[in-house]
Amino acid sequence: MRTNGNDWTHLERLEYAARGLEPNAAELDELFGKTVAYARRHLSELAHAPAYVEREDAGRALTNSPITEDGIPIDEALTLLRDNVDSIGIDAASSRFLGYIPGGGLVHSALGDLLAAVANRYAAVYYAGPGAVRMEHMLVRWMASLYGYPDSSGGFLSSGGSLANLSAIVAAREVHGISGSEIERSVVYLTNDTHYCVGKALRIAGLSKCPGRFVQMDENFRMSSTALEEAIRKDRKAGLRPWLLVSSTGTTNTGAVDPIGELGDIASAHGLWHHIEGAYGAFFILCEEGREVLHGMDRSDSIIMDPHKTLFLPYGTGAVIVKERNHLFNAHRAWADYLQDIEQEMELVASAFLSPELTKHFRALRMWLPLKVIGLAAFRAALSEKIQLARYFHERLQQMPGFEVGPYPDLSVVTFRYVPPRGDANLFNQQLTDLIHADGRVFLSSTLLQDKLTLRLAVVCFRTHRDHIDLTLEILLEKVEMLLDLPADKRPAAPDSHVFRVASSTNTS
Ligand SMILES: *Cc1c(COP(=O)(O)O)cnc(C)c1O
Repeated sequence: MRTNGNDWTHLERLEYAARGLEPNAAELDELFGKTVAYARRHLSELAHAPAYVEREDAGRALTNSPITEDGIPIDEALTLLRDNVDSIGIDAASSRFLGYIPGGGLVHSALGDLLAAVANRYAAVYYAGPGAVRMEHMLVRWMASLYGYPDSSGGFLSSGGSLANLSAIVAAREVHGISGSEIERSVVYLTNDTHYCVGKALRIAGLSKCPGRFVQMDENFRMSSTALEEAIRKDRKAGLRPWLLVSSTGTTNTGAVDPIGELGDIASAHGLWHHIEGAYGAFFILCEEGREVLHGMDRSDSIIMDPHKTLFLPYGTGAVIVKERNHLFNAHRAWADYLQDIEQEMELVASAFLSPELTKHFRALRMWLPLKVIGLAAFRAALSEKIQLARYFHERLQQMPGFEVGPYPDLSVVTFRYVPPRGDANLFNQQLTDLIHADGRVFLSSTLLQDKLTLRLAVVCFRTHRDHIDLTLEILLEKVEMLLDLPADKRPAAPDSHVFRVASSTNTS
């Protein structure tokens, strides 16, 4: 028989059964101790761990270890993590990961994440987390100041560059009223090397029917300003409506920086929104070498950057800044009566009203803590070093017979290939890439440039120094010699047997 509600003893049973959610002091010590020991060990082994490991099982034990009613000891969980996650694939924290656009992994950020998660402050709404919102604001203001954006600009920390681009594009769409039948006559200008997430963002924003003009690039893979101007004039003559220019401060493909100032002047003369895709390169503005290449950014309408790339943060932090905060606000605002005071707080308007997210990870702390504790000077030096290392590699490679290099690097990406004395050069460079991947000490990626299979070296990780570039040069020589010695039928497996590349490589990834 059911009791009349006075018997609540089962609550004690539930409380007891749920106690695992709140570790006691001794359990906390164990959790912290073992997890920190794991992290410390991981860091200490990083210097010698391979940059890339391809393993047959691809961590399948993880799938085969089900979620169960009873937990497992932290040691066992950490072992699963080590064996099935942290030891396979690309080691994105490695000094020798030089493919695509490498990431970072500042340990200060990891500690910031820990603190953010433990305190679980609400970073989306000002009154709920004034300190958390203020911290994000302060970082956005700092970034805005790097590019000469005014106080009326605004932005937020996103999960990455892709979502940052999406928000900027949605803001541009709203300001220019691109909807309905206007879409098909509203033209977007970009290049073949514009990151593919821009096309994806346009599609998500309902703008896939906008005509896209892939503006011609010059011999250095930078958007040609004369070609842009011509394309805009032609479209205008045809009765179309040019509305969006997407320029890049460092393409993923070749690292080329578009002539931002010139392009921006053309865009503003014709009333286009100028969006700068700076996921990879925008933070190079912090160093002298970067400033020489990145000018005219102040005249744009929006900029994105990826702190998880060139500010060396761990993955999960991008940023967008729009010159007029109101444009971002109008594009993302969602109304509820209880938000009526929001306009008065415009100075400190929180990301909930500027971005697609509401509740979110308190990302600001992982960015603020390293900037505050380490200080900017080290960031400037590291960025400067990355550019210098790319130039060093570019120069050294030219002294190695048989190697052909791409343009002098605008920032920190170098493209190159080996031209074999005979045989198919594309096949040779594919095999060279495969041998490097199989070796695993360094990781380089490849791309197609004007149908030529080309290798890329991207120096972005803060841990990458001259030794690692020298090692890369040595490995390149070693592998080329191996390939030249081997008869064709003894060379490494053909590209399509390479699981990793098939799954994730495109020339704009
Ligand atoms: C990495 C990258 C992106 C995509 O950013 P995510 O942070 O991966 O979403 C966009 N553009 C460029 C140039 C990039 O390097």
